[in-house]
Amino acid sequence: MTKRVFIAGFKHETNTFSRLPTDMAAYKARTYYRDDEVATKMRGTATEIGAAVDAARKHGWSIRHPIYANATPSGKVTKDMHDHVTKVIVDSLNADGPFDGILLCLHGAMVCEHDEDGEGRLLQSVRDAVGRDIPVAVTLDLHANVTDRMADLADIMISYRTYPHVDQYEIATQACGLLDRAMKGEIHPKVHVRRREMLDGADHGRTTSPGPMTDALDTLDRLLAETPGTYAGSINAGFPWVDIHDTGPTCVVTGEGDDPAHGRIAERVMEQIWRDRDKLTITLVSIKDALVQVKSALARGVQAPIVLADYADNPGGGGYGDATKLLGAMVEADLSNAAFGTIYDPDAALACRNAGLGATIRLELGGKVDPAVQGGPLSLMGTVTAITDGTFAMEGPMTRGARVDMGPSAVFSVGGVDIVVASRRYQNYDRMFFKSVGIDPEKKKVLGVKSAHHFRAACAPIASHIIVVDDGGGVTSRNYKDLPYRNVRRPVYPLDLD
Ligand SMILES: [Zn+2]
Repeated sequence: MTKRVFIAGFKHETNTFSRLPTDMAAYKARTYYRDDEVATKMRGTATEIGAAVDAARKHGWSIRHPIYANATPSGKVTKDMHDHVTKVIVDSLNADGPFDGILLCLHGAMVCEHDEDGEGRLLQSVRDAVGRDIPVAVTLDLHANVTDRMADLADIMISYRTYPHVDQYEIATQACGLLDRAMKGEIHPKVHVRRREMLDGADHGRTTSPGPMTDALDTLDRLLAETPGTYAGSINAGFPWVDIHDTGPTCVVTGEGDDPAHGRIAERVMEQIWRDRDKLTITLVSIKDALVQVKSALARGVQAPIVLADYADNPGGGGYGDATKLLGAMVEADLSNAAFGTIYDPDAALACRNAGLGATIRLELGGKVDPAVQGGPLSLMGTVTAITDGTFAMEGPMTRGARVDMGPSAVFSVGGVDIVVASRRYQNYDRMFFKSVGIDPEKKKVLGVKSAHHFRAACAPIASHIIVVDDGGGVTSRNYKDLPYRNVRRPVYPLDLD
């Protein structure tokens, strides 16, 4: 008999140190799809919903998908927004049911104004509506902070294995396969979660070179293969810029019944992650030292672009995207044939549009959300060299095909630096952030990007050097001891424990 499956997505990676609220406007600025729009916009994309739509065809499901909402990381999700999405989901479960199974595409690090466990709260509402007997599969980001409540309320839980997250389609396909088996009664999965007293770990989940994360995944895979009745395992590096009790890495194992051996797998993996807690595969350098390295590489005549990544102001982790320290240093260094993307400043984008293509104007650029963080506005004379509507489709590999709307956008060229000015906050993890405004990133000598690590998916294949800068001070800086944690369990590594 045709299985009826409910599919919905409600994502947010909340940075509780951000002063920007995450409300309906924040979702509408990025992704807020309802009903038919969900499949129409997401079909054919390398995303979880894209995978779920394909899986429905493969498994012969009849599906209902009332909502998919995703906002750029920022401060707490407002109570109004969380209540709204919960209501859309619960109303549809009640009105359009009964369903045989549920797939929820979540992030795992959502904090809302009225609950520090945004996903747990949503899952509780879903269970209140449908009961415990319907299988619920959950997909998560690798940077989830998985709570016991979330694990208790789900039957299947799988996170991305890669950072950059290039396997979103694959993990959702795996989750759908397990959901199909659970709906047919072939399996009876249960989720086990374990954590340690740590805020961040497993090298923050990086899988771009061998290190603690790839080692932990190897151990997990070996233990899963050795242990009967296991269906899936995930390692969540955690999202450290969240001041809640359960912030931190977890290992999550989905297995048959309630077998203590499955919990022990998660414990052994967490033991290894604890042991490797000080190992990192990246080096963070100061902006000053980064520019010295750039000048030295340019003097040696490098051909391919040198990429400077702004770790401390990464909009993909809740950074404001308008911090000016790195951009200011690039302009100051008088670089030629360089580009920076993107700086969030709707007023400056509008000023460029009003001035017109080719106009030379003075702009007070960036540094407006919180001038105390990573530099206030830069006062720059420059020329408007492109004006666009800011829309494009990602070329990949991350979320290939997904639509982006940066809002009214412009390129403001100051000396040899072409600056992409956007009206919305985006992490730069696709070459289209440059190409859509007429900049060929491969032809630039130096690229500045607002991103901590995802940029590597698009930039590593074309870069000669990658330099990750962190001067501290930003809401996504790795200098955790500078941030005012009050709610996380203590003692915790690295705030108190070594
Ligand atoms: Zn992530």
